[in-house]
Amino acid sequence: MIKKVLVANRGEIAIRVMRSCREMEIKSVAVFSEADRASMHVRYADEAYFIGPAPSIDSYLNMDKIIDAAKKSGADAIHPGYGFLSENAAFSQRCDDEGIIFIGPSPSAISNMGDKITARKHMMAAGVPVVPGTVEPLTDEVAALEKIREIGLPVMIKASAGGGGKGMRLVKDEKEILNSIRGARSEAKAAFGNDAVYIEKYIESPHHIEFQVLGDKHGNVIHLFERECSVQRRHQKVIEETPSPLMNPGIREEMGRHAVAAAKAVNYYGAGTIEFIVDDNLNYYFLEMNTRLQVEHPITERVVGVDLVKEQIKIAQGERMTLKQEELEQYGHAIECRIYAEDPENNFMPSPGKITHITEPLGLGVRHDGYVYTGFEIPIYYDPMISKLIVWARTRSEAIARMKRALNAYKITGIKTSIPFLARIMENEDFIKGNYNTHFIEKNFDMLMAKEPCGRRCQDIALITAFIRYTDRVTEAKSNTEKHSEVSNWKAFGRKNAMARF
Ligand code: ADP
Repeated sequence: MIKKVLVANRGEIAIRVMRSCREMEIKSVAVFSEADRASMHVRYADEAYFIGPAPSIDSYLNMDKIIDAAKKSGADAIHPGYGFLSENAAFSQRCDDEGIIFIGPSPSAISNMGDKITARKHMMAAGVPVVPGTVEPLTDEVAALEKIREIGLPVMIKASAGGGGKGMRLVKDEKEILNSIRGARSEAKAAFGNDAVYIEKYIESPHHIEFQVLGDKHGNVIHLFERECSVQRRHQKVIEETPSPLMNPGIREEMGRHAVAAAKAVNYYGAGTIEFIVDDNLNYYFLEMNTRLQVEHPITERVVGVDLVKEQIKIAQGERMTLKQEELEQYGHAIECRIYAEDPENNFMPSPGKITHITEPLGLGVRHDGYVYTGFEIPIYYDPMISKLIVWARTRSEAIARMKRALNAYKITGIKTSIPFLARIMENEDFIKGNYNTHFIEKNFDMLMAKEPCGRRCQDIALITAFIRYTDRVTEAKSNTEKHSEVSNWKAFGRKNAMARF
């Protein structure tokens, strides 16, 4: 049984993992870089170990330092979170070699799915539909040109080792082909040290819909339904929701079966995500598998009622899954907004710095997974995501109203954030109707960049009005206190203090 988990990560995901550990009475160990000495994940953990300078290559990506911290702390398992070493087959192998449980899939499952060309081959063999395209890396440019003519423009040139939208090029015109191949290859080489690229047919107006899967070490695999992730900027997710407004029960069942088949094809265990690209006619194609916990996992947790981190831990210690596919159902609707320290009005430039004040949204159906606090200085070295705001309600429209309310109540000063931009999305007609695909942000850019969304403006006006009425009432009460001595000293004291707080 796992007794102590080292979380090889930082920020919100480190805290999220530690929360589940605490509920399972498992001790948690944090690691931190020079830039993260004051980070909340360090304070939250039962123990914390310094692992080096701020750049992740010297700290969060340094396997030796992390293994060393695990040994010093006596941790019997490592949870990698997402990003950093989470999809690194060599790290999963290293944990095995050191006798430490890796809370994630086997090295072979990671490498089979980590390389997109290899993954496409596995999926084709398992009968899972893949995007039409090539299954070998492009080396010969002349042959590539012929292949693209055969598939037909537009196409996507994609890096086999790709991730985070890097090494990806959309080609619409024959004249761009050679330059795009060269550009994608050099970007892939710089980002992943591997310049293998391949071609996929470009799916017009697509939806990005992914399925959460869980597999145990005894060959059981289930899916926990879909997440709609089509609100994207530069091929990166901004908002996710479940259920997807596009789905119907028949297609959900079919895609779920294919997601399970995809995981089984690589003997998958742990939590994973099968990403599909879906066209308007509900034709769907395997895009890639993420062999780790996703940023957007909380919406599934809320709608299906399962703690995915606890499941990961139980699977890692060899337990048989007790969740049964036929017993799982989606209840209500959940939406997640990713909150970034960035300035939407300045081309989404990162906005690191000191948080001078933060008020987190609360109330029914609101979950806030974050790590920053008043006085915290956001480091420049890592991803600028500061938190995830997740809401749940019984219906989609109630969930949108709740998200609007929560975004408006979320106050951060000292840095710029994506909150106003997200609030505008909640007021967009297409979004409200569930009528959107991956082009949503570019299509609605002008509306989304409008300076003053009504909801926020109205809220500010309401706040000012409330303040004026409140001060009027307090002044009135004060003069009453002076006039009528029967108002108790306790009440008078309370009113005076309330005014001071305001
Ligand atoms: P990465 O691993 O770099 O994130 P993905 O393969 O997951 O790349 O694709 C990221 C996004 O790019 C998708 O969600 C989708 O919006 C877009 N995309 C990728 N492949 C295609 C395609 N063949 N046709 C249309 N859009 C695509």
